[in-house]
Amino acid sequence: MSATIIDGKRIAANVRAEVAHEVEVFTQKVGRAPGLATVLVGGDPASAVYVGAKQRACLEVGMVPFDRRLGAEASFEEVAEELERLNADRAVNGILLQLPVPEHLDGPALTAMVSAEKDVDGLTPVNVGLLSLGRPGLRPCTPAGVMEMLADTGVALAGAEAVVIGRSNLFGKPMAQLLLASNATVTVCHSRTRDLREVCSRAEILVAAVGRPRLVGREFVKAGAVVIDVGMNRLTPEQAGNKSGLVGDVDFAAVSEVASAITPVPGGVGPMTIALLLRNTLQAARYHAELEMLLGELDGSIE
Ligand code: NAP
Repeated sequence: MSATIIDGKRIAANVRAEVAHEVEVFTQKVGRAPGLATVLVGGDPASAVYVGAKQRACLEVGMVPFDRRLGAEASFEEVAEELERLNADRAVNGILLQLPVPEHLDGPALTAMVSAEKDVDGLTPVNVGLLSLGRPGLRPCTPAGVMEMLADTGVALAGAEAVVIGRSNLFGKPMAQLLLASNATVTVCHSRTRDLREVCSRAEILVAAVGRPRLVGREFVKAGAVVIDVGMNRLTPEQAGNKSGLVGDVDFAAVSEVASAITPVPGGVGPMTIALLLRNTLQAARYHAELEMLLGELDGSIE
């Protein structure tokens, strides 16, 4: 079998085009475009690249970017004050605190300070709780992007055996919750899982988010499974065997021979994260506009 490649660039471009159209409609009705603020603390080069990409993506879909940068020595109070300012700013609908923050700062405590209805990363305790309760809320972008990719493959989730490798708060746990909410039978694996290969080989849907280059080999994968590779591991181009030097957690060449569909790295899950961030920002902006309408500050419907 040779697996169908799940093209993250195409699916992400579709999401962005749809968001751009809806932003245009929103802006005409409300009289201002949705605003997304990124907060970068310190000069980590990879984080700066991610923030730059988010700012550009914002402009491309007609949103207003707000770029806030603090020095690597910024105190907890200084970052907290910036978040509070953004929480109070009505031009800002979404706030993204770029992670990781420098080691002297408490990242989870700062994340929790973002107002829940502006939490476009879906990582505050309120949004984590809403997801866990199966209630509407802002969902973490990368797992939400994976759900979009699964929908694109047409794989039936209800009753399917799904295995997620990784239990991080950022990805593994919300991924499991989203699959569960779609009625999959979900198993979550981690570094203490006794027989990873055996558990994975039961999966009809296998999602790997570990951070170990090519950990998932052919023997981990059931024939016909849909395999989603979230891992992003930076190797030298010679080690990686591709120009970008980026490889996933899945041995793409070997697993392609048994899976029915598979995401490549790069060009798979990666492009989905920003697309879903934009969609979340639009969702937050609609929520704020509906609130203003209830308060009598706007006329008409936002949809
Ligand atoms: P993380 O916080 O380091 O979590 C890694 C998880 O993998 C942990 O739950 C860990 O188990 C588990 N693990 C480690 N070694 C294992 C092993 N040998 N067998 C089974 N499980 C093992 O990482 P993360 O933030 O979730 O990210 C995971 C990967 O996804 C990284 O490569 C990251 O770059 C990538 N990622 C990509 C995107 C994107 O494309 N936009 C977004 C997020 C993450 P324990 O809990 O027991 O330690």
